[in-house]
Amino acid sequence: RAKAEGRGTFCFFEQSMNDKVQARRAIEVDLRTALVRDELEVFYQPLFHLSAGQVGGFEALVRWRHPTRGLVSPAQFIPIAEELGLIVPLGEWVMIQACKEAVTWPRDIKVAVNLSPAQFRSNGLSKSIRRALNESGLPAGRLELEITESALLQDSEAVLATLHELRSLGIRIALDDFGTGYSSLSYLRSFPFDKLKIDQSFVREMGYRPDCQAIVVSVLGLAAELGMATTAEGVETEEQLEQLREFGCTEAQGYLFDRPRPAGEIRHWFAAKANTLPRGKTASLQSS
Ligand code: C2E
Ligand code: MG
Ligand code: MG
Ligand code: MG
Repeated sequence: RAKAEGRGTFCFFEQSMNDKVQARRAIEVDLRTALVRDELEVFYQPLFHLSAGQVGGFEALVRWRHPTRGLVSPAQFIPIAEELGLIVPLGEWVMIQACKEAVTWPRDIKVAVNLSPAQFRSNGLSKSIRRALNESGLPAGRLELEITESALLQDSEAVLATLHELRSLGIRIALDDFGTGYSSLSYLRSFPFDKLKIDQSFVREMGYRPDCQAIVVSVLGLAAELGMATTAEGVETEEQLEQLREFGCTEAQGYLFDRPRPAGEIRHWFAAKANTLPRGKTASLQSS
């Protein structure tokens, strides 16, 4: 009986593995055509500046409107796009979309775009970013790039050269998801990041875990000493916001303010706010 059960379990396991492989294959096939079929869309989530008490920018977050699966999260298809070598065209597409959208926003609102490590391994990264800025007319000072430390793991000399080149154009560079991965402090020494984004896992546990709170406080202090701005990711409660304010965090991002939304909704939000404010004051809106 035990043997039969064991076999049954094994078959079930094998089946579910098989399902996963099938599902992944299906995503792979569809992803190859998603770009040409115009199924990708960029959503935007506000970055709330704490001392100014207003939204200072938006992070561009890609979504896939799959004809049958519905809205697919980037966590599901970005890794596959990286493996299939599709991340370069996909990343270029997101960049141009984000720049064209941001140029329609009030002048002091920035846009942050995520870059995959694989985009640094391709040769034309800085060229394609310059092209996106030229085509859209977005000033370089309004563009921020979010990179994770994994981009700095391989061939870091070449990556650092690219980062310095982009920086010299006036583009800001943020280190994303700080605190996950190796979090080696040597990354902070190797490149003068403009901003450090503290991963949401620390923010989430900050309220009830003294060790997480200590890490957040230390990282915020370190960033301040090094002259870097800070963003806390995944802020969902007033309590978290109050603590972050107290600890001197620069910026907060999370469902407490808003979820990522389609471009049209951000445009409407600006338009509605603009109507209620004197001309030229559009950028000093409150987020709520
Ligand atoms: P990320 O860059 O760390 O982006 C923040 C993620 O946290 C987003 O997930 C956002 O929707 C989510 N988030 C924001 N506030 C909250 C909150 O209060 N609570 C919780 N639980 N989550 C919150 P999303 O949009 O699913 O994106 C996941 C990841 O996919 C991103 O993490 C980024 O690494 C990657 N990604 C998204 N768009 C792009 C892209 O255009 N290019 C590349 N290379 N990667 C992208
Ligand atoms: Mg990011
Ligand atoms: Mg992040
Ligand atoms: Mg994150």
